[in-house]
Amino acid sequence: MNKLLVAFTLGIFTFSQAQTFTEQDTLRGSITPEREWWDLNYYHLDIDVNADDKFISGCNTIRYKVLKPHQVLQVDLQPPLRIEKVTQDGVELEVTNNINAHFIQLTKPQKVGELNEVVVTYSGHPKEAVNAPWDGGFSWKKDANGKDFVATSCQGLGASVWWPNKDHMYDEVDSMLISVKAPKGLMNVSNGRLRSIDKETNTYNWFVSNPINNYGVNVNIGDYIHFDEIYQGEKGVLDMDYYVLKDNLEKAEVHFKDAPKMMQAFEYWFGPYPFYEDSFKLVEVPYLGMEHQSSVTYGNQYKKGYLGRDLSGTGWGLKFDFIIIHEAGHEWFANNITYKDAADMWVHEGFTCYSESLFLDYHYGTEAANAYVQGIRNNIRNDKPIIGIYNVNHEGSGDMYYKGSNTLHTLRQVVNDDRKWRTILRGLNSEFYHKTVTTDEIEKVIGIEMKRDLKPFFDQYLRTTKIPVFEYKVKGKKLSYRFTNTVENFTLPIKVYIDDIPVWLEPSNEWQSEKMKGSFENLRVDPNFYIEINP
Ligand SMILES: [Zn+2]
Repeated sequence: MNKLLVAFTLGIFTFSQAQTFTEQDTLRGSITPEREWWDLNYYHLDIDVNADDKFISGCNTIRYKVLKPHQVLQVDLQPPLRIEKVTQDGVELEVTNNINAHFIQLTKPQKVGELNEVVVTYSGHPKEAVNAPWDGGFSWKKDANGKDFVATSCQGLGASVWWPNKDHMYDEVDSMLISVKAPKGLMNVSNGRLRSIDKETNTYNWFVSNPINNYGVNVNIGDYIHFDEIYQGEKGVLDMDYYVLKDNLEKAEVHFKDAPKMMQAFEYWFGPYPFYEDSFKLVEVPYLGMEHQSSVTYGNQYKKGYLGRDLSGTGWGLKFDFIIIHEAGHEWFANNITYKDAADMWVHEGFTCYSESLFLDYHYGTEAANAYVQGIRNNIRNDKPIIGIYNVNHEGSGDMYYKGSNTLHTLRQVVNDDRKWRTILRGLNSEFYHKTVTTDEIEKVIGIEMKRDLKPFFDQYLRTTKIPVFEYKVKGKKLSYRFTNTVENFTLPIKVYIDDIPVWLEPSNEWQSEKMKGSFENLRVDPNFYIEINP
């Protein structure tokens, strides 16, 4: 066990937190020498799901490209699942393991540029989800008619909780075939398109033709009924397919009208849906929901808001089904643009939480969107920084949602031009199309677009828990102002109103003064900026 003391030194103050990480965290969370020498090309996951025994068995064929010569390959699989054997070109290989990490000793020389395959055969009773999707695994449930209703979820925990893979986010597989033998009479819905069904064995073959992250891969088994629609989108014809429990068809046909509305709003703000080739699906599951790529899972009980609740407390949160909008928003930020390291998870959750307000903006106007973002601000805790610790599969504060959203909303005010702001959001989705990224890369691209050094801004909001405090004092006609509680070199243009007339100020850590017209008693700061005020 390693004890790691991590100290963030940022300008004028230091934030430190003591964290204990294990060797397993490092094996899981870092690009180990046994991972970095090969590049994922293709998976064929082929499993039999036995709901009666809560047992799975099968194999994953892993095809990879050799980047540099190495003879040991790391694959992850979490106990109690067990690797039975690993072969390459039909030859069985020796495997040593360190709990979740399995080290395959390759015998064939690994030549640079070659495409090779290993076949990992495994079986066992996978971890059962305790509180899906947060504490995930397999959910073995029954529907109202007593039929099996089974689903996987594994974000954070890792996809290796149910199938053997390279369980690190930096390397996405380029395409994938998912074959699932489901219990008789039931259907399996996974990612991508249904390529074929083997009726004899009740095996469903789904093919994903785009890069996909590990936790995005999923199995959903149920007594499903299917309906669909065609959406005329920015990139042409998009198939939108819906799989729901048979009893819920009528409800879903009405309720899922939010899906094309979502597509309209997000294509407008973020650019074309990133997976036309794989279609878009909503799939009903026995838990709240998850952003599984091209098969977004749904369990919001056909209610508006978050299980009927408005997270913003403004009423606007009840205008849409939170799970449809939020989880589908992740198709752009999580599935298209994917973090390399869990420490940067705000790239998924901050932008997606913000996408909820952009949905409102598109359909109900900017005032509604502004009210929503300001409303969810009440959920911010500022308990620890949004960015977590790198290389140990560590997520930052839950503030990555609401504070992440408010951070972006503040930037939008600085841009002060929604056409430009939209260009930035769409630009991110084309610049990082089907890529894995770091926060640093995101910051730089936005900074270039805005022609501003945004390093102090992002340091402030993502890497500390401090909120800038705007201080001002008035002497006659002179207004003096500055920011306190900030990192070094922090500045931010803000809009204030004096007698209801908008005035832009650019406070820094130093006092500045200006002579102004108007009565300062009536000074108020535009509430769209996420700052504190100390008059
Ligand atoms: Zn999310």
